Amino acid sequence: MSNELDPHHLVALMSHIFASTQDGSSRRLDTSSHNFKHGIVDNHTTNVRTLPILDAIANISVSRERSQSIAVALQLDSQKKEIRLTIAENQRVTKALLDHLCNVWGNLQTLSNEYAEQRTGASDQPMHMALTLKIQIFRDIYLYSLKKQMKRINKWFQNLGQFMKVLLNSRGSSNLQGFEVNLFDAVVALFTALNLVGKLHDNPQSQLTDEQWAQVYRLSMKANEDVRVVLADRDGTSCEVLAEELKDDCPQGPFNLRRALVKLTSLPQHIESLFGFAHSPRLRPTLLYRMFIIGVPKRSRKVQLPSSSSREWRLFLETACQQSYNWQEGDAIELSEKFNSRTYMCAVHSECKLIQYLETTHENQWDNVPPFSYIGVSKLSCSACRIWIESFNKLGGRQFYTRGSHDKWCWPWGMPRMGGPLDEIMAKKVLKEYIAYERASNRLRLHSESTGASSSGAQHGLSDDQREEAVATSVLQEEFGGDMMLFLNSKFPDVW
Ligand SMILES: [Zn+2]
Repeated sequence: MSNELDPHHLVALMSHIFASTQDGSSRRLDTSSHNFKHGIVDNHTTNVRTLPILDAIANISVSRERSQSIAVALQLDSQKKEIRLTIAENQRVTKALLDHLCNVWGNLQTLSNEYAEQRTGASDQPMHMALTLKIQIFRDIYLYSLKKQMKRINKWFQNLGQFMKVLLNSRGSSNLQGFEVNLFDAVVALFTALNLVGKLHDNPQSQLTDEQWAQVYRLSMKANEDVRVVLADRDGTSCEVLAEELKDDCPQGPFNLRRALVKLTSLPQHIESLFGFAHSPRLRPTLLYRMFIIGVPKRSRKVQLPSSSSREWRLFLETACQQSYNWQEGDAIELSEKFNSRTYMCAVHSECKLIQYLETTHENQWDNVPPFSYIGVSKLSCSACRIWIESFNKLGGRQFYTRGSHDKWCWPWGMPRMGGPLDEIMAKKVLKEYIAYERASNRLRLHSESTGASSSGAQHGLSDDQREEAVATSVLQEEFGGDMMLFLNSKFPDVW
């Protein structure tokens, strides 16, 4: 029956059902249960180390504040010693992005050479050279992604400061224990770094000096380290335990401390993954090869939904449920009101577009180079993309994976044109989730039951001497005599 249903119609239906909520299917890739093929070397551990690097490349490609999602694929031609990165976006891949990635890649190659010389003792002052280069890479990436980074800061930082005040009020200024000390140090380091970067955002004409960039770099790496300690403490539950303990003093219930820390350090953590990439002897071949980069052209698909009269939507629901129910009339009216336009131009999301591109021949050498089965993404996939990739993998050919899904449904959503049974497999899978939802809502009779058809990122933080310089609490000492609460009250005026 599902082959009578257009998968786009089902995706539209699911996006209506889960318009303001998640479908509960959120999942992350279990790297231990997959065999990643065509990686840098034929070794599972090395392949798993490559995953956060591809995610990092996707993430540093984001420059717009919103609605930008990037996917990255890797192909390696070890005979010719050539590598290709294929980049897809929800929209069009710009030349500026390709230039940016080429620049970063070139600097990572130089950094990798520095480390290689350092290992053989061929360089006199490698650490100094490497540090200068790392700060330059950090600055280039930070400036390219500045708008996105400022959006994260504006969204999360004040609330994190308010939460810290609640914590300090609860414990007393000098009684922080264990990971709470790391948390406080991270906030002070982040505050100092973001304060400097904020000047760039407030006045795009202004520039930071080399020394200021060095400071932002050191503080960001210090914050990365402290945040990693916080996130891993108590077997990875520290944030939730602390937020739960302090929830009565937070106006909106438990503060999402984990998400705040992850978002605020996301860009520097990805940059650190890239430094780890340049530092790794096992991954070095990738940076020795000649690199090619290509952007996937924009793709969209014209989709016709059932007409805006509720009758067509009602018929659609009856077909989906294989039976007529009274409630379908009300749902059909809602759907016809929501989708009042019949024709939609639906962009194909980046990860699906990338897989389609890799599966199509382009009359060049890369047609014969199988891509690495992991695709780096800047965002978790939506539910429709997750199901589409699962459907694609059912075809029995190449397998592709991303780091997971955020279990939200988006509309408009367009499916790549691939031919074969893919549309039908996709429709069956979405229908199955729809039927499961209606069944859980007790809206289907029993006899209709047969109806249903990305961080293990490389850490590459501060050496001991840099860490000394980066002790963020020196700000605390100098400006506030070590008084934590005085610092927080000064920098985070009450908004709760
Ligand atoms: Zn998607």
